[in-house]
Amino acid sequence: MMEYDYLIVGAGLFGAVFAERATAAGRRVLVIDKRSHIAGNVYTEPVEGINVHRYGPHIFHTHMDEVWEYVHRFATFNDFVYRPLANYRGEMYSLPFNMHTFRQMWGVTTAEEAAARIAQQRAAAPQEPQNLEEQAISLVGTEIYQKLIKGYTEKQWGRPCTELPPFIIKRLPVRLEYNDNYYNDPHQGIPMGGYTAMVQRMLQGIEVRLGQDYLADRAAWDALVPRVVYTGPIDAFFGYRLGTLEYRSLRFETEVLNQPDFQGRAAVNYTDRDTPWTRIIEHKHFEFGTQQKTVVTREFSKEWQRGDEPYYPVNDARNSALYAQYRELAQREPRHIFGGRLAEYRYYDMDDVIHLALQAAEREFK
Ligand code: FAD
Ligand code: UDP
Repeated sequence: MMEYDYLIVGAGLFGAVFAERATAAGRRVLVIDKRSHIAGNVYTEPVEGINVHRYGPHIFHTHMDEVWEYVHRFATFNDFVYRPLANYRGEMYSLPFNMHTFRQMWGVTTAEEAAARIAQQRAAAPQEPQNLEEQAISLVGTEIYQKLIKGYTEKQWGRPCTELPPFIIKRLPVRLEYNDNYYNDPHQGIPMGGYTAMVQRMLQGIEVRLGQDYLADRAAWDALVPRVVYTGPIDAFFGYRLGTLEYRSLRFETEVLNQPDFQGRAAVNYTDRDTPWTRIIEHKHFEFGTQQKTVVTREFSKEWQRGDEPYYPVNDARNSALYAQYRELAQREPRHIFGGRLAEYRYYDMDDVIHLALQAAEREFK
């Protein structure tokens, strides 16, 4: 008789939700993570009384009622709404692309005038956009593309917009309304007290061992359990035997400033090509902080190399084809469940990951 029913590799959202559901279903689980903390990339830690989003800003938003209800069992959410600004060489614009942006860009005040401007500039794009540049021009015209999209996207992805897939830019809403909510989802907010506290509550009463790399001693870990949930990179699981999947990585520079406010917003994107960072995050604004000091983080995008933290999967043709091959290998591993943004090599938001973990648990424990 083994001591545990499940080993869960990764204490991020996928691992924590699955562990919580497994425990609720009466299973004995062990969670490990190679990092020194739980919560994966949603990890927050207090600095000067401000919850700092250590791996990039995280705003919870979802259209899935069941996910929204589920997370409320572990946290109270505030009514934060993400309204980032764009700074293009000192000119400030509203994001996402909405009537405020069009007024700031062109001086137009009605939806009709804005639509006419876009239609005029869209003539430059083909009917069926094949890449991000064509898609962006078709959505918002050439001028917004040049000022608010091209530089930011090329910094973010390290590739020309003509070599990036159209879907990346379709994440952003385009609205002929004075509505600068970055998201269209009906539910949005930040867990009060930080994401780490939320994940801590999910993992309450569950054994967690930190600083443990599953792949460093896989046979020993596998010997402990009949079933393994793996949320790490899929190519690493298979020893990179078919090749390495590419990611974009990030570098963060965080500083504490001895002033109550720095930029008056949670996020300002720097959309020109020359500013080296992509955005500046001022963490206190996620929870409406009134501390005397403030903490800001400059975010720099960089090419990923083995050993770096993987952040964004590069879902181009080469990487997607390679992932498909790894997925086939994964399907032949009867003891393992693969889940989350690294094991599935997908650009998932938090709510997607929670939803998938809930579904995986339902299949397992029905
Ligand atoms: P992770 O959080 O990466 O967890 C995987 C865990 O597995 C990690 O802790 C890792 O250390 C561990 N692990 C890996 N390999 C091993 C191993 N061999 N042994 C032991 N442990 C291992 N989503 C939103 O909804 N809203 C946002 O605003 C948002 N902003 C984001 C901003 C940035 C910069 C990034 C990169 C992502 C953002 N996301 C956002 C997405 C969100 O971070 C993910 O959807 C979510 O964190 C994925 O959870 P996960 O459990 O799949 O992965
Ligand atoms: N984007 C842009 N300008 C901005 C913000 C975003 O061109 O000011 C583009 C960029 O290509 C980015 C994509 O829109 O990769 C999606 O943006 P989102 O904010 O969803 O990206 P995330 O940071 O969540 O990955």
